[in-house]
Order: sequence, then structure tokens, then C-alpha cells
Amino acid sequence: PSITRGVTTEVPKVSWEDIGGLKDLKKKLQQAVEWPIKHSAAFARMGISPIRGVLLHGPPGCSKTTLAKAAANAAQASFFSLSGAELYSMYVGEGEALLRNTFQRARLAAPSIIFFDEADVVAAKRGGTSSNSTTVGERLLSTLLTEMDGLEHSKGILVLAATNRPHAIDAALMRPGRFDLVLYVPPPDLEARYEILGVHTRKMKISNDVDLRRIAEDSELFTGAELEGLCREAGIVALRENISATVVCNHHFQTVKEALKPALTRAEVE
Ligand code: ATP
Repeated sequence: PSITRGVTTEVPKVSWEDIGGLKDLKKKLQQAVEWPIKHSAAFARMGISPIRGVLLHGPPGCSKTTLAKAAANAAQASFFSLSGAELYSMYVGEGEALLRNTFQRARLAAPSIIFFDEADVVAAKRGGTSSNSTTVGERLLSTLLTEMDGLEHSKGILVLAATNRPHAIDAALMRPGRFDLVLYVPPPDLEARYEILGVHTRKMKISNDVDLRRIAEDSELFTGAELEGLCREAGIVALRENISATVVCNHHFQTVKEALKPALTRAEVE
């Protein structure tokens, strides 16, 4: 398999406006990602070293990946995407090679953002069992640490990592100069759900009887991904009813919503 498998490099098209809710979080990311890249000279002048890593944690489907892409878009940075699970499943040595290669390419393409999804698979706490699989994880983690420490000398490269299991992350990654900023990406509250529904119906013609606020109120525990699915499915139901349909009506939304069960539980949200 190709050494660059799973890595994409273009500047993503997603923007901050495509993400509903999370106003404060977007501002924090903007400061952490956009500023150092756009105003690197000002940072150097003031003797401030920009952070090298941001850890995003929170339940699945709540926009960690989308936030990373929007940050790259805002900073006009190339976007390199790596999956911890994919690295872990590669042949011996191949995962480390892909990691090193990605950092190398990111340096050449700077400004760059390296997005590391399912980071806990690679960056899990060391020690414990002595099985072979632990060694694979340890080697990947040590490669990641080496590469992140090497970023000291490169400008305009930031690692954004995402995980659903922040407690599983090895403490070595949380030392200063590595993941200096840890941000929780929560499931959407009422206002955020309303905004997310707005985002995903933007290009849709919806009938006057659709009350997005009402749907937001009725969709507690839904993640952004589930709300996106709800909008898409409502459109499909409308078409299934009548392939020449031009608008999506309230009953289409209701049909889909009744069949949907949110994956999150109350305990996970509170
Ligand atoms: P995972 O942990 O499963 O990788 P994630 O937290 O990275 O999930 P994303 O992949 O960013 O989540 O989101 C999944 C989908 O849900 C995306 O297509 C995105 O458009 C939609 N989505 C999630 N949250 C939001 C939001 N706040 N606003 C708009 N869309 C959202």
C-alpha cells in the first residue's frame, strides 16, 4: 500500500459558519490556530512561541473533525489527516513511516494542520500488558512524541488531535510544548441544535410548517451528526413520497425523528 494512504492535503472547504453552536470554542481555536499562522511575525516579535498541539475531546459526531477542518480553512492551511486506528492496523514499521512522512510533508506544505483522529488508539497510556500490540502502540507514540518535539524548529505547523477517551491519553503527550490546549467539544445544547438544523437546511427548501426551533427542542441528546442525518433523511422521505417534490414539510421531519434514537445517553451529556 502507498505510504501516503489516508492522507489528504488540500485546504478544507468547511468554514466556521458551517458549524452550529460552540461560539466560545470556535473563538479559542481561532486564537490558537489562526493567529499564530496568520500573524507569525507578530508572535516572533513578541517572543511568544505558539502552541504546537490542541486536543479536542468529546462524544462522537459532535464536530471535532469539522472544527479542525474549519480551523485549517480559516488559516488557509493545508490539512493532513491521520487516523490512530489506521496507523495501528498497518504492517510493522509502516505506521511509524506514515507518521514521519506526514510530518515531513506538512513541513514542506506549511502552514499546515495535522489532524489526528482517534488519537487514543496510538497515544494510549504506556505500560500495562506486555502483549505485542502494546509495543506497536508504544512505537507509534514515541514516533509521535519525537515528531511533535521536532516542531519546535518549524513554523506554522499545528497538530490537532481528537479523541472520545481523553483519560486514555498518555501523560507524556500532555507535557508543555505538546498538547498545550485541551478543549472539550460538548454535545449540542438547545441553541446549538437550532443552529445546526439551520446549517443543514440552508440549501434545502423547507415548507412554512417546519418549525426548526420546535425540532431543536424535541431533539435533546441528538448529536450534530444525527441532526445532519435527520435533515437529509427528511429530504429523502419527501422524495420517496413524491419524486417531484420541491419542499420538505414538517411531517417528513417528524416521520424521521420518530424513527431515530439518539446514541448518547443522558449520563454522557450531564
Ligand atoms: P467522531 O468522533 O465520530 O470522529 P466528530 O466529533 O469528529 O466525530 P464530525 O465528523 O466533525 O464529528 O461530525 C460528523 C458530522 O456531523 C459532520 O458531517 C458534521 O457536518 C455534522 N456536525 C456535527 N456537529 C455539527 C455542528 N455543530 N454543526 C454542524 N454540523 C455538525
